Amino acid sequence: MIKLKQIHKSFGRAEVLKGIDLTVLKGEVVAILGPSGSGKTTLLRCLNYLEKPSDGEISIGEHTVHCKKAHKKDIQKLRRKTAMVFQQYNLFRHKTAIENVMEGLIVVQKLPKAEARKKGVELLEKVGLGNKLDSYPSQLSGGQQQRVGIARALALNPEVILFDEPTSALDPELVGEVLAVIRKIAKEGITMVIVTHEMGFAQDVANRVVFMDGGVIVEEGSPKDIFQSPKEERTRQFLARYT
Ligand code: ADP
Repeated sequence: MIKLKQIHKSFGRAEVLKGIDLTVLKGEVVAILGPSGSGKTTLLRCLNYLEKPSDGEISIGEHTVHCKKAHKKDIQKLRRKTAMVFQQYNLFRHKTAIENVMEGLIVVQKLPKAEARKKGVELLEKVGLGNKLDSYPSQLSGGQQQRVGIARALALNPEVILFDEPTSALDPELVGEVLAVIRKIAKEGITMVIVTHEMGFAQDVANRVVFMDGGVIVEEGSPKDIFQSPKEERTRQFLARYT
């Protein structure tokens, strides 16, 4: 589903991604772990061109973008295949929950308004917010706002959902409800890449865990491999801080 070849990204002189190769299969849930500043978010943002990689190749499904000679159309096509769930939710403040979800259905999917509303209601029910359709973000808890963010991502009907630390802005008591929704969606077989610090979650939801440090993938493997018998010292040290 996703194939990254030698992705490089620099900000000024700082090379933040130093040649990332990664393959994600259809239906796979891949968790990206690593210390702060290791390039996890940048990698996720490069995947859908929120950041332009300096070099390398990104394929999603049948579509490939060569980063050095990408055209606007190529990038647009790539973006349509993914949806992102952000740390800070990024909801429209002046729109209600249902309007936030309908936006993509109307603007991107070009659905008529009545149909968009029907689909939007279904999606909000799916994330447990069927009773909050007309609430504004300011009237919702952080966990509820993030669940709207997830419903909005699903509305784009993406081939891949990218989660950028989806629970790190939440109070601890609200983390569980968001992880439960992500778990439920993962079971439906949609391909996911999740940057997270929730080790327990990564361990039981991911099919594969990727550990990054210093702009490279240090090691990857099944959750069992990585959590129980990491090969690399850097992975061991990182995990030791969380267990
Ligand atoms: P992580 O998600 O692993 O914490 P990031 O991908 O956010 O790491 O950041 C990796 C490095 O890139 C950090 O040193 C960060 O300061 C730097 N960086 C990220 N975004 C930018 C930016 N827009 N401009 C300059 N430096 C950035």
